[in-house]
Amino acid sequence: MAEKKYHRDTLAVRAGYQRTPEGEQSEAIFPTISFVYDSAEQAAQRFSGESEGNIYSRFTNPTVRTFEQRLAAVEGAESCVATASGMSAVLATMMGVLSAGDHVLTSRSLFGSTIILFEKILARFGLQFDYVDMTDIEAWKKAVRPETRMLFVETPSNPLMELADIAALAQLAHANDALLAVDNTFLTPMMQRPLELGADISVYSATKYMDGQGRVLGGAVVGSNETVGEQVYSFLRSAGPCMSPFNAWVFLKGMETLGLRMQAHSDNALMLAQWLEARPEVSKVYYPGLASHPQHELAKNQQQGFGGVLAFAIKGDRAAAWRMIDGTELVSKTANLGDTKSIITHPASTTHGRLSQEERDAAGVHDNIIRLSVGLEHVDDLKADLETGLAAI
Ligand SMILES: *Cc1c(COP(=O)(O)O)cnc(C)c1O
Repeated sequence: MAEKKYHRDTLAVRAGYQRTPEGEQSEAIFPTISFVYDSAEQAAQRFSGESEGNIYSRFTNPTVRTFEQRLAAVEGAESCVATASGMSAVLATMMGVLSAGDHVLTSRSLFGSTIILFEKILARFGLQFDYVDMTDIEAWKKAVRPETRMLFVETPSNPLMELADIAALAQLAHANDALLAVDNTFLTPMMQRPLELGADISVYSATKYMDGQGRVLGGAVVGSNETVGEQVYSFLRSAGPCMSPFNAWVFLKGMETLGLRMQAHSDNALMLAQWLEARPEVSKVYYPGLASHPQHELAKNQQQGFGGVLAFAIKGDRAAAWRMIDGTELVSKTANLGDTKSIITHPASTTHGRLSQEERDAAGVHDNIIRLSVGLEHVDDLKADLETGLAAI
């Protein structure tokens, strides 16, 4: 398919697939590990790289490749590599591009496991990490060192929905011979395209909105042929945290409705954020779509929507936050996000529970903060449910 002339929504539905001779309308799944050759000579040519084609599903798999090509087309990127999970997408990015001694500049406003991966695992292999306030570009500038090779940022951040200025960070990275990687899980390419803003790499947990129904784990790294297609891919094919064909198929079908779902999540989230902001039990609402968000203008400029996640602080302590959560009935009490079913989470004791009190304070994840991943239920039912929760405080 000549992909350039189609709109993003069309690419999300159709890009990347080559129909088999069976003529199927819905994409086929290829659950096979190896691929069969016509002759010993052909096998030798495939292995030596003389001829192109499938060898082994850790290297290439047709279903996984379809997902990769579809996501690359939707994002307008040269290359995409699918991974077993969002965390392995972060891992593959670091392992593919960096070497011992390299310095990574990032912020504390990161997914909890990403901080653990950086601090407790990758730091043991000689990568150095420094953390700055993600919203303060001057702080980023001051912290850059000669050995800084990557800036890594998650925007909007989890759980407080703070934003980083992607274009400004890309400029800073490139002025210092470093790459900018953006974890774009919260918005997906339907609402934010980091590469268009100058970033080098987009990282995804496909587990969230790309599946969108809380079923399968997966991730992806998107960028140039050189950085992603060669460096990240070469780590992946040797180390093996690759996506299963079945999961790739689920994500492929998820991509087809991604634009519609993101818009619906975002519409519901804005209505709930406005409603929560007017509630007497709530001291603060964190959502970039609110005029009260300190970076509302930046959100309007660099995003095509505000996303489906919000957080709010209640007037009270941890026990009160737990009473609010336990007082709800409809929303699910779990820690995932990006699901059609709304999810309520207490970050300080779950997603950020493995961090020290000091690290949590630095990230602003206080005991009275509740995160809501707004699903696709009717917004009036969600309001009624949250009202019951608030009454339990
Ligand atoms: C969930 C998440 C991850 C990790 O993804 P998994 O698929 O659970 O491994 C990374 N970054 C962000 C922003 C996430 O929300």
